[in-house]
Amino acid sequence: MTQLGLFDETGFQEKVPGPDIQLLALSLWRPWDQAIIHGGKRHKNRTWSRPSLLGQRIAIHAGLKYDREGAEKMKKAGLFSPPADDASPTGIVGLARVSRFVTSSDSPWFFGPIGWVLSEVVALPAPVPCRGAQGVWRVPADIALQVLSQISAPTIHVTNRSSTTLHGPGRLWSIMIRPRPQYGELGDGFVSDLRPTEGDFARLRTGQITVAEYKDRTVAMWTANGTDHLVPGKLRAMTRIEGSSVAVQSGDTLFCSCSRELADRGKCHRSWAAELLSKVGWKVIRDGVVMSARK
Ligand SMILES: [Zn+2]
Repeated sequence: MTQLGLFDETGFQEKVPGPDIQLLALSLWRPWDQAIIHGGKRHKNRTWSRPSLLGQRIAIHAGLKYDREGAEKMKKAGLFSPPADDASPTGIVGLARVSRFVTSSDSPWFFGPIGWVLSEVVALPAPVPCRGAQGVWRVPADIALQVLSQISAPTIHVTNRSSTTLHGPGRLWSIMIRPRPQYGELGDGFVSDLRPTEGDFARLRTGQITVAEYKDRTVAMWTANGTDHLVPGKLRAMTRIEGSSVAVQSGDTLFCSCSRELADRGKCHRSWAAELLSKVGWKVIRDGVVMSARK
């Protein structure tokens, strides 16, 4: 497999597999695509089904034709007020998963005879121009890359300060309580929302609390006001030189100084941070291993 260099939305280079990408698409007349993407329409009406598509994520492609009559109908029925012809984008506008085929439904969007039930509908931040085709068609690899790179989760690396080969291409943020400048442990700054407290750290060191208690207290503190402050775009870091607060970006690294063995055994707070981040929308690579997101 060859690797193509790709820039994700934050500008950091990410390796994305090239030729293996398979993305199928369905072309629709505009503004039916917008009714799906922004209007809550979850049924695609067709005369045919395609069982092999069940569970697959497909691209929603907006063709050149604008269906004025259809646009009027959905507006009159109070279902959705679609954008006008010149404000309705063409090309690949989003993705959806084909979750079922049904022959009846209470949905006002169901006309039959066969309804393709769509789930996990996402709009692309920037529609990708490309030609459509009849039926279900395969998106060219270069276009598929442009589509998928827009929706891939931001990546965060969580590892040891000295494991430089496991660092991401972005900035290095310390989550240590007592960083040692001589070992570069100040990094580019720190993420204070994922540091333990001085007090708990001292209690652990003096044997007043166990590692399990230290973990419980630390994670409870991080999530005391929910996890909203940890999601991509909201997780903040304080830069060391300028002293300004910035968003942690895809490709950045969080580090402490514990050994990998300790992290693997769940006895280092970076492993707890990694676990938490993987549940709130980050793609987490902890010590070089991609963590599976568990809800
Ligand atoms: Zn640690």
